[in-house]
Amino acid sequence: MKDGDRWMRLKEEMLDAAASLGIDKIGVASADPFIELKQILIRHRELGRESGFEEPDLDKRTNPSLLFDSPQSIIAIAIAYPSKLVDPPKSEPGARRGIIARASWGQDYHTVLRDRLSKLEAWLKERVPELRVESMVDTGALSDRAVAERAGLGWGGKNCMIMNDELGSWIYLGEMITNLPLPPDKPLADGCGECTKCIDACPTGALVGPGQLDSKRCISFLTQTKGFLEDEVMRKIGNRLYGCDTCQTVCPVNRRKNWTHHPELQPDHELVKPLLVPLLTIGNREFKERYGSMSSAWRGKKPIQRNAVIALGNFKEKSAVGDLIGVLQDDPRPVMRGTAAWSLGKIGGEEAEAALQAAVLKETDEEAKVYIERAMAEMAECSEMESI
Ligand code: SF4
Ligand code: SF4
Repeated sequence: MKDGDRWMRLKEEMLDAAASLGIDKIGVASADPFIELKQILIRHRELGRESGFEEPDLDKRTNPSLLFDSPQSIIAIAIAYPSKLVDPPKSEPGARRGIIARASWGQDYHTVLRDRLSKLEAWLKERVPELRVESMVDTGALSDRAVAERAGLGWGGKNCMIMNDELGSWIYLGEMITNLPLPPDKPLADGCGECTKCIDACPTGALVGPGQLDSKRCISFLTQTKGFLEDEVMRKIGNRLYGCDTCQTVCPVNRRKNWTHHPELQPDHELVKPLLVPLLTIGNREFKERYGSMSSAWRGKKPIQRNAVIALGNFKEKSAVGDLIGVLQDDPRPVMRGTAAWSLGKIGGEEAEAALQAAVLKETDEEAKVYIERAMAEMAECSEMESI
């Protein structure tokens, strides 16, 4: 058999084996440098649009040969995840709930993708003993999306997600650089056309152009930060505890797509749409036990707790005033105290006002104090308006 035929045959067999390995789609990309991507990333950095969570070395992000000795191909995989909660618990007055984005439902996707990549590696090794690979998932140097796009797993949507007509954008991506000269796939043609629904729906204008994301304005990124947030951002976060799915839920390509065939990726309703008040005082141990296996736990409990405080303010949840005052008075973290002040300012009422007045006198953190003062000012404005 000619060499080219051998690799073509292996690729066909690999595609046939995908489902039995728990993989929904496989594509192959050449291992050439991602020259265009590098220019885009340079510009992205110049404009200050990076989140700070990325691999800082742009050469490593765009040149597979800096990560692997003589790479011959990159195998890209996709695993589809669910997008719908069947019969979700209601969020209602007295029992308000937050939302965890779909990419964090079920078991941490890093674990799931690593499992699939190692199964694929074992499958290949049986057939090609001289196989060498370097597998990557999200935190690897290469851009999962650029590899997936080149490998024909989907086109890069205007919302910056990789999507295809079969699975939509509800897919986790991983890749494996190899020493196998597998024949590459062709990228898919753009399927967005004239649609701009994602750009129009983005609450913060973070999609600054088709396929261009200003990470620092993106709620998905902001929900993962740990510090104080601006008033406008907090209002727009709504009840999101981790991540944001808006630019995917509005996408027509995702209509009626919900993937339920991977049991470990199915959501536990109480975890992905949890009651907000219990989160305010959840201990480290309980947080780890409940949320530790989800990808949203990677930044610890603080961002999720802060966002729970914000959500209660956005709901103007009067029944939570006592709990928020507890945070304002007792939480050792200035961000939590200042954010609780913001929420109390939004909810209003005499009890909240009295608590803010008492808190401002004893607050020692300058930034938290500013948030308390602003909340007091906002309440004063509201009561002025009411008295007119
Ligand atoms: Fe906008 Fe949310 Fe999409 Fe970020 S994740 S670009 S904030 S819609
Ligand atoms: Fe493309 Fe429209 Fe989906 Fe945005 S909403 S990614 S423009 S198809």
